Amino acid sequence: MTGFLCLCRAIEGSRENMEEIREWAEDPMYRDRLTGLYNYDGFLRAAQGQLDRGEGGAIAVLNIRQFKYINEMLGREKGDELLKFVAGAIVDGPKSIRVAGRAGSDVFYLYIDSTDGKQIVGEMDGFLHALTRSSIGVLGAFQMRAYCGVIVSRPKGEIPHYTLEQMLTRMMYALAKAREYSENKTWLFDAELHKEEQKEEDVILHMHAALRAKEFELYLQPKVDVSTGRLASAEALVRWRRDGRLLSPGLFIPIFDKTGFSFYLDRYMLQEVGKLIRGWRERGIAPIPVSVNQTKITFYNETYISYLKWIKETYGIPDGGMILEILESMAVDNLGEANRILDEARSLGYRISMDDFGSGYSSLNVLAKLKLDELKIDQTFLRNMGTEGKERIILQMIIDLSRRFGISTVVEGVETREQEALVRSMGCSLGQGYLYSRPLPAKEFMERFM
Ligand code: C2E
Ligand code: MG
Ligand code: MG
Repeated sequence: MTGFLCLCRAIEGSRENMEEIREWAEDPMYRDRLTGLYNYDGFLRAAQGQLDRGEGGAIAVLNIRQFKYINEMLGREKGDELLKFVAGAIVDGPKSIRVAGRAGSDVFYLYIDSTDGKQIVGEMDGFLHALTRSSIGVLGAFQMRAYCGVIVSRPKGEIPHYTLEQMLTRMMYALAKAREYSENKTWLFDAELHKEEQKEEDVILHMHAALRAKEFELYLQPKVDVSTGRLASAEALVRWRRDGRLLSPGLFIPIFDKTGFSFYLDRYMLQEVGKLIRGWRERGIAPIPVSVNQTKITFYNETYISYLKWIKETYGIPDGGMILEILESMAVDNLGEANRILDEARSLGYRISMDDFGSGYSSLNVLAKLKLDELKIDQTFLRNMGTEGKERIILQMIIDLSRRFGISTVVEGVETREQEALVRSMGCSLGQGYLYSRPLPAKEFMERFM
């Protein structure tokens, strides 16, 4: 109770715009007993009252970092003391804070009387730092840190304008962003960013069902011998058929990588390619090698090799019938382990290709250290091939070096006859690109090329 009294004194001693907190919080139904601030219901009522004035405003939510741990380490009593300390600091905090509440645990809600997002962030960041500095008084050696999500709603008729409910849900995205840091941090909700996040959430929500519903389709793009013009092999590329639209991998593969879902997609694609090759053989069509893109999480999974073995046996894949496309970034920090996996894959009859070489921090060292069958030179090489000739010298060197190591080369992104001629004159074996064909549905690919 002393904490509460203290707080009341603090309120009385401060400005008149906190009047409302005291007034409302005196009704026990809307009061948080520990801190004397509003409880969640009380906050909602008061914040709604502020928004109803029609001038727009902001809502913030504040969390204490590692609060559970502080509770556990220092005991519940200290935890409570800290909560009361934060409540008191809020009451004495920036003048723009009009209403404050606590929704249980360490979740504080604030109504801020401003629509200037930048200014609010600056003010809240300053407030959080002040909290940290003075928290030593409560926590001793520990320093409290906090993070904060903020959303601004402009007056009706302006953009963005939100209802209180919309503000509360959207603000949580800002809070989650702020949480990603380890310091004091205030994050302002950004509608544009939110659109991106919604797209991502949508992908995550649907990806598992999409796999079951077979919405992922196998497309093939030819790799062509640049000296004879003959089809040499093909690359399997995924497309996602969603609500009648065809999504390109750039829209979902990065999200799959982030969530670990690539593991399932990679297995699915290996199976689809397995079925394809078995189908060719059953129909008496001489199979061409097909390469499948592999991701890091798939590659280092302990069941990877046994899965490759299973694919090989189940679909009767001939040796060299399937190529695994890996990325340099998958292997560069872990050359020993990568080589061990590659050796096993190769002994099962798979061939190994390195994708997108030259797109990042490529090192020629990798060519010497990794056992590769094929090197795919990133399309940026052809894109950036200026008149200066430096790119050309590098490309020539990569092709020559690969040949010495017995690695065949594929240049990606061949779009014109001139590029093809250039690639051929440099002694590269294969080309892949729109000049020959865009990626095609597997059936169309067969009709056209096999
Ligand atoms: P990647 O493996 O480097 O695939 C080549 C990409 O370049 C493909 O884009 C292809 O359509 C595009 N491309 C081919 N020729 C040309 C050209 O002449 N000009 C231009 N501008 N582009 C060309 P796509 O199909 O959108 O795939 C993008 C990336 O997504 C792939 O890059 C690969 O990293 C990933 N990906 C695609 N399918 C799969 C899959 O089944 N599994 C996994 N794990 N990743 C995949
Ligand atoms: Mg590839
Ligand atoms: Mg590539």
